[in-house]
Amino acid sequence: MTAAVLPGSFDPPTYGHLSIIERASRLFDSIDVVVAVNPDKHYLFTAEERVSMMEYLLKDYKNISVHICKCLIVDYAKKIGAKVLLRGIRNINDFAYEFDLSMMNHTLNPEIDTLFVPSEQRYAIVKSSSIKELAQFGGDISGMVPPIVANALYKKFSK
Ligand code: ADP
Repeated sequence: MTAAVLPGSFDPPTYGHLSIIERASRLFDSIDVVVAVNPDKHYLFTAEERVSMMEYLLKDYKNISVHICKCLIVDYAKKIGAKVLLRGIRNINDFAYEFDLSMMNHTLNPEIDTLFVPSEQRYAIVKSSSIKELAQFGGDISGMVPPIVANALYKKFSK
């Protein structure tokens, strides 16, 4: 049984996230998508809102489940017996950041390795932070996020 963990903020989930999750779901028996809760980060959506969007978007995958983690991701992986952390890479900047993070995580637990999944070309510029800015000013985000996410974003900004 090969289990992997795919952590992220998913604030909000995008087609970029869904693409790497869908592709990874064909490589592993099970994937835990883990919604991160970092007290130092400011999120637009609560952890519960992010989990509920991810659960809805991933409901058709039998081997994917969605969780919340308020702990170190290597500790979460150890707890469920997963030896692989998955991270998406859009460009060289992501790589530089993710490479350092992977070394940090490997130092914390040498039994757990990070695997990088390259973005699909069409989603390489899809970024949660830019989508939030676009949505705030009424920009067209239909090619970047599923309709339920677009609606949730417009609702947040209409308050
Ligand atoms: P972070 O945890 O840095 O806030 P996110 O929650 O946005 O990152 O993303 C979780 C994972 O998905 C990260 O590995 C990130 O690099 C990856 N990712 C985000 N957007 C895309 C995309 N458009 N294509 C591929 N991977 C992506």
